[in-house]
Amino acid sequence: MEEPSDIVVYSWFDEVPAHLKTRNQLKELGLRPTGQIKAKVVWKRRGGTGIAYLYDSSEVAAKKTATAAQLAALEKARMARSTCPYCGKVHSFVLPSSWTPWDCSGCIHKRYLADRKQAIETAKQALSDPLGCILDTETTDLDGYVLQVGVVDMTGRVLLDSLVDPLAEISPEAQRVHGIGTEMLRGAPSFVELLPRLRAVLAGRKVWAYNLDFERKIFRNERQRIDPESKRRPFRWLHAAEDRCAMELYSCFVGQFEAGYDEDGDPYEGYRYQALPYGDHSAVGDCLGSLRLLQELAVASDE
Ligand SMILES: [Zn+2]
Repeated sequence: MEEPSDIVVYSWFDEVPAHLKTRNQLKELGLRPTGQIKAKVVWKRRGGTGIAYLYDSSEVAAKKTATAAQLAALEKARMARSTCPYCGKVHSFVLPSSWTPWDCSGCIHKRYLADRKQAIETAKQALSDPLGCILDTETTDLDGYVLQVGVVDMTGRVLLDSLVDPLAEISPEAQRVHGIGTEMLRGAPSFVELLPRLRAVLAGRKVWAYNLDFERKIFRNERQRIDPESKRRPFRWLHAAEDRCAMELYSCFVGQFEAGYDEDGDPYEGYRYQALPYGDHSAVGDCLGSLRLLQELAVASDE
């Protein structure tokens, strides 16, 4: 718009009468100027002179509403800023710049579907392995010693079912769970006495457990007691077991994703551990419960 000669010049905005507005001020009101420039504000600023033209706020029209094409372009831009770059899910909000796959429900779901499929596949392989077996123990405490051991093969045949004299106190909490008291253990072999049988049963076997880390901890305690100086890994069969943990499989299968920070402030993420849904808190009963669970996973639909 051309600037008429002889217009009023103000040196700052606080001198401008209320009926005069800049184009931007009118725009904020949803208006656009239709009349001539009426005045201007000219001020010194770093590197030169600032100029703002002023229009009469009575000479205006409503700003044209956006066209369908403009709206579509705006929507497209908003969609782009709401779309997860990792999985393509469109969220209902604009993604922050710190966005990671762990923030994205779409990414997590996609990963869950893959993990679930893998769990089903692993369960099938475990069951079809003639050398596979499942081991379970009942213990004196959550960080205690063995007082019952069970081993079954993948057909459900019981390979070992024995009480063990733990030579240690049984915590009331543990006893409430498995119901095994000192009286019942009278005459049972100690762990050291049972060990040759256990070794023979597990020789060449691929050992599964429900919560493998727990079994490892308990067997580590037993090893420590037998040979406190030993730096060796407790028992080969459990360390060779790698990740043969039915709880890991089942937790993947259920898929309650959790992410957050632990009490040390370290980030963690993964599937919440699920309790064994079958079993009777006897060693063999829990082995058979784990077997039933693997069988259910193996026939689940992986879609
Ligand atoms: Zn995503």
